[in-house]
Amino acid sequence: MMNRRQFLCTSAATAAMFARVPNAFAATYDLLIRGGRVIDPSVGLDATRDVAIAGGKIAAVEANITGDAAETIDARGKIVAPGLIDIHTHAGRTKEGPPLALQDGVTGWVDAGSGGADNIDQIAAVARGAPQIGRALVNIARTGVAPGGELHDINRANVALAQGAIARNRDIVVGVKARMSNNVAGTNDLEALRRAQEAAAPFNMPVMIHVGQNYSPMRAILPLLKRGDIVTHMYAPAPNGILDEKGQLFPDVTAARRRGIIFDFGNGVADHFDWATVEKATKQGFWPDTFSTDWNVMSKTTGVVDFPNVMSKFLMFGMPLTQLIACATVNAARVFPAFDDRGTLNVGAPADVAVLELRDGTFEFLDNYKGTRTGRQRLVPIATVLAGKQAPRA
Ligand SMILES: [Zn+2]
Repeated sequence: MMNRRQFLCTSAATAAMFARVPNAFAATYDLLIRGGRVIDPSVGLDATRDVAIAGGKIAAVEANITGDAAETIDARGKIVAPGLIDIHTHAGRTKEGPPLALQDGVTGWVDAGSGGADNIDQIAAVARGAPQIGRALVNIARTGVAPGGELHDINRANVALAQGAIARNRDIVVGVKARMSNNVAGTNDLEALRRAQEAAAPFNMPVMIHVGQNYSPMRAILPLLKRGDIVTHMYAPAPNGILDEKGQLFPDVTAARRRGIIFDFGNGVADHFDWATVEKATKQGFWPDTFSTDWNVMSKTTGVVDFPNVMSKFLMFGMPLTQLIACATVNAARVFPAFDDRGTLNVGAPADVAVLELRDGTFEFLDNYKGTRTGRQRLVPIATVLAGKQAPRA
């Protein structure tokens, strides 16, 4: 990165010219990101470009932008992508979370069910104070995520209370979360989901379900989902995952995708995915629509590490880089209307940008069962631009 002074010094001739003959037509930008490989799947762009930013918005994406800028980022050899959007995190639990996620290139996040009716107001307060756009799903269980499982007592899934929580946090709450695993809900999984739908219905909001080792099979769960709802932890292993006992995808799962259900990765730490399920499903063409980390402030020390690390796991399985970036940007933005103008470097969009480096080497990746796989490439977060300003590095 160069500041303005250094930039002018390295182009002394240009500087001298500007000093003598001010060019009335030369644009002045707040920030120029120069020479990166710009990957913006929202407009089908993958090419070397400069990105100019002014007034917190994308001003131009072109080859060799001329003009002056207060600040410059040298992105040669790097990937310049729209800011990453993580639709399943727990970033709202503490105010320390969102600035940490920003370091990983995450310029938009959704806290997925940390809080229920009893405690969503604290999550919403963290979201309102976050540097980047933060939103939340209200847990259908009034307690939010609880140790031992929040839905063993189905009375905690109180529709009226959940609706009240949404109504008083309309600026932050964008959907309802239900955790369906046997160790969270036991035999109450389907009833909890019905109540989540009932809570969301008057607000026209999606429901996100956390699946994995549920009491009920997918063929019973999926019919309770509507277009735009999200299944997180899509590669959770048996029992009652997306694969039958022969490792074939259940037809109900592919049918659900066809009718607009979104399948989200949801890395997490325990019971959410193993390499064998990822391998079997992706070999049958069943890739994630979105990635998410299930992140919290401890994730640096788990198999999550950071959002680009989670994305890199799918490079290992052969997902093309542009599709990888799409999952983490435009696809995620489309899940919630609150992110309508995000996940893109379109001119006029908020200037949220992730500068990443695709490193070659030997990288070890972890599933949720202590399984390691070795990849040859890893995306590394280099710099984050939020509303046109470079986020300070930790
Ligand atoms: Zn979670």
